[in-house]
Amino acid sequence: MSDLFQPLPDQPPSPEAALSTVPVLLPLALDEAFSYRKPEPMSLPAGTVVAVPLGTREAVGVVWDEEASPAPSGSLKSILHPMDAPPLSDKLRRFIDWVSRYTLAPKGMVLRMALNKPEAERVERPRLAVRLAGSQPKRLTPARQKVLAIAASGLAYAKQALAEEAGVSTSVIDGLIDEGTLETLVLAADPVALPPDPDHHKPVLSPDQQSAADQLQKKVQAKSFSVSLLEGVTGSGKTEVYFEAVAEALKQGQQILILVPEIALTALFLDRFARRFGTRPAEWHSNLAGRKRERVYAALASGEARVVAGARSALFLPYSNLGLIIVDEEHEGAYKQEDGVHYHARDMAVVRGKIEDASVILASATPSLESRVNAAQGRYTHLLLPDRYGGSAMPHIEAIDMRQQQPDKGFWLSPPLVHAMQETLERGEQCLLYLNRRGYAPLTLCRGCGHRMQCPNCSAWLVEHRHRRALMCHHCGHLERMPDTCPSCQASDKLAPCGPGVERLAEEMATLFPDKRCLVLSSDMPGGMERLQRELQEIASGQCDIIIGTQLVAKGHHFPQLSLVGVVDGDLGLVSGDPRAAERSFQVLQQVSGRAGREKTNGRALIQTYQPDHPVIKALLSGDATQFYTAEQAMRQQAGLPPFGRLAALIVTSPDRKQAEEMARRLARLAEPPPEVVVLGPAEAPIAKLRNRYRFRLLVKTSRQFDIQTWIRSWLARMPKNNGQLRITVDIDPYSFF
Ligand code: ADP
Ligand code: ZN
Ligand code: ZN
Repeated sequence: MSDLFQPLPDQPPSPEAALSTVPVLLPLALDEAFSYRKPEPMSLPAGTVVAVPLGTREAVGVVWDEEASPAPSGSLKSILHPMDAPPLSDKLRRFIDWVSRYTLAPKGMVLRMALNKPEAERVERPRLAVRLAGSQPKRLTPARQKVLAIAASGLAYAKQALAEEAGVSTSVIDGLIDEGTLETLVLAADPVALPPDPDHHKPVLSPDQQSAADQLQKKVQAKSFSVSLLEGVTGSGKTEVYFEAVAEALKQGQQILILVPEIALTALFLDRFARRFGTRPAEWHSNLAGRKRERVYAALASGEARVVAGARSALFLPYSNLGLIIVDEEHEGAYKQEDGVHYHARDMAVVRGKIEDASVILASATPSLESRVNAAQGRYTHLLLPDRYGGSAMPHIEAIDMRQQQPDKGFWLSPPLVHAMQETLERGEQCLLYLNRRGYAPLTLCRGCGHRMQCPNCSAWLVEHRHRRALMCHHCGHLERMPDTCPSCQASDKLAPCGPGVERLAEEMATLFPDKRCLVLSSDMPGGMERLQRELQEIASGQCDIIIGTQLVAKGHHFPQLSLVGVVDGDLGLVSGDPRAAERSFQVLQQVSGRAGREKTNGRALIQTYQPDHPVIKALLSGDATQFYTAEQAMRQQAGLPPFGRLAALIVTSPDRKQAEEMARRLARLAEPPPEVVVLGPAEAPIAKLRNRYRFRLLVKTSRQFDIQTWIRSWLARMPKNNGQLRITVDIDPYSFF
């Protein structure tokens, strides 16, 4: 039996070798883990972050818990080494599996969101310092004397800082370290967030608030999965109420995640949190700088950080003991991620809560129909705050019929709105004009030949941004200089802006109210987040008279002196192919109106509309939200639309229009839907070209019980592979239909 002792070069893997392989999931567009050989002495439990060879490079992956197939190259490669990174808990791995199965996104792409930095070098370099050790140097040069004079304090110095202060090169310090006169030590990093104090500044709650807070605290104490829908009109104190749940979770030793829809607003939120709990929570969003990012990530994994406030991506962080998840403004469309992994953070928050046995709170003044139905059917606990805190009245909402009240030529505000603004400003109060259109004008047209300025990459108009002297595509970011002459007929002075954007309204304000201070709040203004935050503070402290804003101003601000809201275009968003268009329009108009009169002054909201009889406008005026939602719900139920049925969008794109169209048709032919499935389309997408790719859409509609994911997966498996540039994107529960 000599072959036992003399292995052949091409021997198949022995049973022992098979046993010592581990599946490693890589943060790439792959659905399965690959097998790697486990070097003998390494202990690699599932969840360990490891470095592995991948082709000619090194990649970081995570030891997973499923059967794995060998890497595509055929030969089994060895894991290189474990990384100095927190492991992914069992619960987090189950969450990643779940999100991937639900969204049909490759598992590796979901993992990517959970890894802080999916590159090989993710170890944070420790901060080193030097201080006096004791033993005398062999020689005492003038340079060394200078260093020692400073180090005599006994404090620890960063090497570079000490060298600079002494006016010597770092080699002098190295010499002293070698001789044992100085020693090096590793400094602990500053804490990412200090422990919040649940009793720092506890408000006295109104009876309604107290009763909601009590119920939420009981849920937290139960330490089991639950979902509560906290519905309260703007200004009712929802934040104060859910802070009581945060306080309870802190007392229970749990970690808390607070999701906010808009990163521009996190800083304000962090300050508000600090007033209640004595310190800011950790923050998490895409703008967070690299080093801080790593530390927040590690502090949540170790349990050192107790509370994090952040954007939807914070759902994928490696919590050690997550007990409470709050989704603020749960109805917000911004929670739906529309690229990469298409997921809805509110829905996935509920899933993570279930996996973690955590309490989930969904807070909103205008909850989504989805959450309302879940509450009505008993899956969620419904908590209501019917009144504003402090007794201020809800704003009085009126419509202005634009068919009768025409603005002057070249202006956008009707006489009644201008008049109301005058009155408000004379009383020394603030006005807010809402228009969800960034830039100066949404369209630039040649009055000579009719040419419209269009994006070269997308089927969309270019938006003029006057402060930048540029035309911009809001879909792909394309930017070009505003031309002097028409590119089509070469006429000069014929290019004219059509329609208003927020910048253009500011011009109108300068004409109408030249001595009033006006601020434009828009996410794309120069100066970034810092400027925006400064401006929000200025508004709150009354340093400006007129605020013009996009969607951004609809959310969560409390401006004490604001008493008039003017909606410049109440019809924007009423018509579209989106089944949620009416609901969304209602929510945003309700939210914007709710900015008015948050303190004693009686608030007023005026909505300019050409369709004063539209159900959305009528519902707003009547103040009867329930009636609107009842009608909307009946309509959706009848049409089998969410949440009563399921939708999925398939978007077929290619740089070649013909290929995109042919493949979309082929996809439709291969569908063979069972009776409970309807496949609509393909149809050319409303934005037929985006970033130089032509787009065709199919829409799948099924009953609520139907397993839409499994069916779509088998359908896509019937499509031929390797179609070159063709791409098929699946969007389960789509929120946009462009
Ligand atoms: P919402 O989130 O429902 O719009 P907020 O929580 O922002 O309401 O509360 C609106 C305003 O009222 C805030 O300035 C808040 O500090 C204040 N407020 C609410 N409840 C109380 C309370 N019980 N005691 C003191 N101030 C309160
Ligand atoms: Zn022209
Ligand atoms: Zn474009």
